[in-house]
Amino acid sequence: MRDENCIFCKIVAGEIPSRTLFEDEDFKVMLDVGPAAKGHALIIPKAHYADIYELPGELAGEAMKLAKRMATHMTTVLNCDGFNILQNNGEVAGQTVFHYHMHLIPRYKGGDEMILWKANHFSDEEMDALAEKLKVQ
Ligand code: 5GP
Ligand code: ZN
Repeated sequence: MRDENCIFCKIVAGEIPSRTLFEDEDFKVMLDVGPAAKGHALIIPKAHYADIYELPGELAGEAMKLAKRMATHMTTVLNCDGFNILQNNGEVAGQTVFHYHMHLIPRYKGGDEMILWKANHFSDEEMDALAEKLKVQ
């Protein structure tokens, strides 16, 4: 499960170097080369899946377990004050590397601004309709 044009597949294969924090059969965790904060790391599955839609549910669960383990470890070692775990799917959502990855971003008091969004307002009718439409049966 490799995409020849994928930079993360090349990293997994050892063809491009990375600063690896953890590795097992299924995952690699490495420092991000363009860190949002000191210690920003990425969890990537070793097999190529473009995004959350392609990633098998089992691996998604394992990735989240690993995120918890890494966040706990990194918070202890870095003594950071908070932690973002986030994951982008699709260009419009900010994805730039199309090999699934989770961002592990330690946050520090007085550090760069965290990721924020402006709260939109939708009418009660729209919100009710959305909730109805999005209900999982
Ligand atoms: P996205 O925007 O797709 O959610 O995140 C892609 C991330 O991959 C960015 O934070 C970027 O800095 C990181 N990145 C891009 N190329 C490389 C690379 O060659 N090595 C590592 N370690 N990170 C990379
Ligand atoms: Zn890949």
